[in-house]
Amino acid sequence: MTAASSSLQHGRVVVVGSINMDMVSRSPRLPAPGETLVGESFAMAPGGKGANQAVAAARLGAQVSFVSRVGTQAYGAELLANLEREGIATEATARDAAALPGIAVIMVASDGGENSIVYVPGSNAQLSAADIDAAAATLRGARVVVAQLEVPQPAIARAFALAREAGATTILNAAPALALTPELRGQADWLVVNEGEAGLLSGLPVDTAAQLEAAAEALRAQGFAQVVITLGGEGLLLCAAGGISRLPAARVTALDTVGAGDTFVGGLATGLAEGMPPEQALRLGQAAAAVAVSRIGVQTAMPRRAELAAEFQ
Ligand code: ATP
Repeated sequence: MTAASSSLQHGRVVVVGSINMDMVSRSPRLPAPGETLVGESFAMAPGGKGANQAVAAARLGAQVSFVSRVGTQAYGAELLANLEREGIATEATARDAAALPGIAVIMVASDGGENSIVYVPGSNAQLSAADIDAAAATLRGARVVVAQLEVPQPAIARAFALAREAGATTILNAAPALALTPELRGQADWLVVNEGEAGLLSGLPVDTAAQLEAAAEALRAQGFAQVVITLGGEGLLLCAAGGISRLPAARVTALDTVGAGDTFVGGLATGLAEGMPPEQALRLGQAAAAVAVSRIGVQTAMPRRAELAAEFQ
């Protein structure tokens, strides 16, 4: 299949989630309380799990809309412009002139890479069910809706309910690992978590292969038809109606694994929105994440579809 023909089958993905500006300073070490250090460098990078997953899906060829609430003070306009540069529709994102967007202040020590982070959720914490209702037309037009837990659960549950009524598939990436409301649990077709999140959400140990499988079964019993536990360079485990299967990760030299999960989820959503069978959509997510970890950065490291192997074109 050619690149042109694959772009014809692009699916509609709606991402409901957070958007932040990461402000990263590097200094020789982390400052002690009350201390001022002279830093070596400073950079700002757009982030937030929602925005990251939207960018991952758009780069892979999905037609993406972003549903969120963005404070337009400080860096809000820049964050929206970044999404638009990626071809992501932001009409269904509420603008809030009275709020700051999410901001993460990150200090990284160059001796060993230790870091300290202060995250101020800003407008992400204000996303409401009313905002979701205002985005109803966009959600009803989705083939796949994806959300993470950096925005309030009532808003996600409402978005999933609207989308499902219209026949969409819903994916919950339960990161960070927060206790899930029953309302939300009942609305997600897919649950995607990493190992640590699987342990926290199931309340079970996840140290051995058998324990991981038991945790996946327990999560599935919470009401998700498909449960995916990602295992970094070890690939992933899928627990679905047909039982448990494992998919190995591609072997690459990992340079920066931050954002692997977001790239994977964006790829899974893209594949499902194109109508791929689940295993192929999972492999698309894995192939994209393998490229992303072999480069430095989060959004900057996410690949375009044409960079993946021929089987994904
Ligand atoms: P993060 O929080 O760093 O964004 P995560 O913990 O949510 O990531 P991981 O389980 O680390 O997610 O990775 C998600 C997927 O990305 C894995 O299932 C795998 O397919 C791919 N991946 C991650 N690390 C590697 C690696 N070192 N080599 C190849 N693929 C990787």
